[in-house]
Amino acid sequence: MSDDPRRDELAAALTAARERVARAEAAAGRAPGSARLMVVTKFFPADDLVRLVGLGADEFGESREPEAGRKVAQVRADLPGAVFDVDMIGSLQRKKAKTVARWARRVQSVDSPELTEALASAAATALDAGERTAALGVLLQLSLDGDPARGGVVEADLPALADRVAAHEGVLRLDGLMVIAPLHGEADAHLARAAEVAARFRAEHPEAAELSSGMSSDLEKAIAHGSTCVRVGTAIMGARPITSP
Ligand SMILES: *Cc1c(COP(=O)(O)O)cnc(C)c1O
Repeated sequence: MSDDPRRDELAAALTAARERVARAEAAAGRAPGSARLMVVTKFFPADDLVRLVGLGADEFGESREPEAGRKVAQVRADLPGAVFDVDMIGSLQRKKAKTVARWARRVQSVDSPELTEALASAAATALDAGERTAALGVLLQLSLDGDPARGGVVEADLPALADRVAAHEGVLRLDGLMVIAPLHGEADAHLARAAEVAARFRAEHPEAAELSSGMSSDLEKAIAHGSTCVRVGTAIMGARPITSP
């Protein structure tokens, strides 16, 4: 026990989530560590990220700018020298590309040529200014049912979008695909289809090997269907707090 109950709570939940990932990898006959755990910290304050970095978490997902940028800046100030990465995983307006390119390792929700161009220009500026040192990673968000509420592009539109990302070599880096399965009903079938699309995509773009799929409710299914990065919020952070950070 420590004198910080929230830290204890996060420690227990993080351990439980890591165990779920490890069990799912084993059940799928996959190598330990082949599915990474990303902690989704949206809605929760910078202090929780500080606690989680202290507990060894090193990959985070955020979904709202400018709140995310402020939070990341605060954690970097509180923990100078700490090694962790933060991805933008929520839908992103073009006008916010500029600030996101300053803090995000990757944007997982790229689903239009316009957003790609905005991110390329923002990442180039950030690289020139020394605000980032590596190309901005891009995951194309796949939509399997064309449901605009979850965003994403259909499989037929992936090649053109991938080419557009590739045209910005050194500024953008094509890392793979991201998918959000429906919360109810056919998550399993959805994740299976996402794995098929990802295999076809990888045949064309071998470097873009990431398949970001699976959340609190379906991470086991996602790992069974080839996820390399599960994005877990509620199961680690708890329910959404009433006040915003
Ligand atoms: C919030 C969010 C998650 C985490 O969802 P939980 O069900 O809380 O684990 C994962 N991915 C995206 C894109 C999200 O917005």
